This record gives sequence, structure tokens and C-alpha cells, in this order.
Amino acid sequence: MPIRLTAHFAREFTGPQAALAAMGRDFLPRLEEHPDIQAYAVPGRDIEIRVIFGGRRECRQWGVPAQAMGFHAVASKMKWDGRREEYWRKVADSHDVHVNMDAAMDIGEWWDRNQVEDRESDLESWLFTVPHEVLHALEWIRETGGRTPDEMFEEGDIDAINRTSRAIRTRLNGGRPDGDEDHIEFHAREVTYATMPKATIERLGATPWGELGAAPAAPATDALPSPVRTP
Ligand SMILES: [Zn+2]
Repeated sequence: MPIRLTAHFAREFTGPQAALAAMGRDFLPRLEEHPDIQAYAVPGRDIEIRVIFGGRRECRQWGVPAQAMGFHAVASKMKWDGRREEYWRKVADSHDVHVNMDAAMDIGEWWDRNQVEDRESDLESWLFTVPHEVLHALEWIRETGGRTPDEMFEEGDIDAINRTSRAIRTRLNGGRPDGDEDHIEFHAREVTYATMPKATIERLGATPWGELGAAPAAPATDALPSPVRTP
């Protein structure tokens, strides 16, 4: 059963956020076709990864720093509920990754402040965020046979979740505390370069930041390089 990547919007976006989020959304079917993504499919299990374009609010809900470009939602830290007088935490019951569209606004400030000429490479870097977070979810799926964080939590509470995260780091890069990050970022770039929506990047790169998303997006003219190959 193939892996499916679906796009979700936590709120309505306008301007540059709308333009970037649309690029991220339109990128998903291209990513989905990449064999590296489908290599994580779990026989007999229908896997959907929800890519949620959100912002600060979602970062706050999951206890992630507001400047994070994105994150894989697993479990939040413990929170105190004063009304019910008990601790609780949020645990994801689906395979969810978040893209922080509020943090993406820093790109525009950067461009304006430094009069950046090579905007396309900044847009490419931003786009890495999508496969980067998707790959975090895919490594989780590989480690757990496709079980959601909530299913792992049911099996062994937060210990099962922590064990899973540790096992992923160990498998990918020798168990260093941040050992999976380089591996995932490298893989994300590789997958992005193979599926890059070049026409969209060029179009957005040639548009002043303030005018991005002002007009309806032109129809996508990006043809998928076919067939997509990896060594
Ligand atoms: Zn990461």
C-alpha cells in the first residue's frame, strides 16, 4: 500500500504565506512519487502523512520553539490543567508533520534587509522543510511498523515514545543526541533536488516579496522529471 502525503491548512493564508504554502502543497504529489518516499511503505497498512501548514499556534500546542521551520508532531511535554487538577500531554494520533508558515516570513525580512539577489536558493532551502519533516515521520513509521505516536503511547506510555526516538537516532547515526538531523536533512535535499518545482521557484524568486500571493497563482507548469531515479 503506498504512502500518501496530504496537505492541510490550519488557517487561511494570504500574501507570501499563501504563495509559499501553495508551493509546499503542490510539491506533495511530486514527493509522493519519489521511490525514496515509497520505500517506507508498510505492507498491509494504509499510511497517510498529513502535512499541516500552520504557524505559531501549532508550535505552542506542541511545545515547539516558535522559530522552528517545521516539526514532526509526536508528544508534547506535560502540561498542568488547573481546572481538572491533573497533568496531561498531547500525543499525536495520526502521522502529522507541521510546516511553520509564520517562521517562513523571516525569509522576506531577510530579503528586504539584505537586498538578496539569489532568492531561488532561499526558496529551495525553505522547500527542504517539507521533505525534512516528512522524513522524520517516515523514519518513525519504519521504526514502529506504521504505528502512530498514540498507538505507541497506548503500548508503553511516554517510555515507548522515547525508546522509539532513541532507536531512530541510533539506527540513523550512532545514537548521538541530534544524530538523525544531518541524515534527514541530507536525504531531504536529495529528494527535493530530484523533484524540484523549478518553474514555481523561478516565478516566486522573480516576484517582490510584498507582491507574492497578491494575484492568483499561475497554473503549475512544472513537469515531473520522469522517471525519477535514485542510485
Ligand atoms: Zn529535523
